Amino acid sequence: MKYLSPTRVKRVSPKQTDIIWNDGHVSSYPSWYLREKCMCAECVEEFTGERRIVPGSIPSSIERVSVNAVGNYALSFGWSDGHNSGIYTFEYLRKICPCAQCLPEGLKEPPAAKQKPDSFEV
Ligand SMILES: [Zn+2]
Ligand SMILES: [Zn+2]
Repeated sequence: MKYLSPTRVKRVSPKQTDIIWNDGHVSSYPSWYLREKCMCAECVEEFTGERRIVPGSIPSSIERVSVNAVGNYALSFGWSDGHNSGIYTFEYLRKICPCAQCLPEGLKEPPAAKQKPDSFEV
């Protein structure tokens, strides 16, 4: 089997990026999902590998502002919340593919806006 890489990265909309792979597989990523899966040092605890992003804390309204190739092994994305330090290797992107075949349980879409903590409101 040849080395897995995208043959095409489709900017479907600011909220969706599709990748067509060289084995014919198609992955369709919502922006909030990719943002939540960021693996940079800011989002993942370096030593424990623990994720700092609470699932569901990224609003579904987040948009992709840029996508760039990193060498020939990864993509980097810039997001509308200003975050742009994440590097997503092709291997990782394929691993987190949310299609019905790769993720049979499907994706749970987060709320449209961040919920404010209501514990301080009287
Ligand atoms: Zn990050
Ligand atoms: Zn898939």
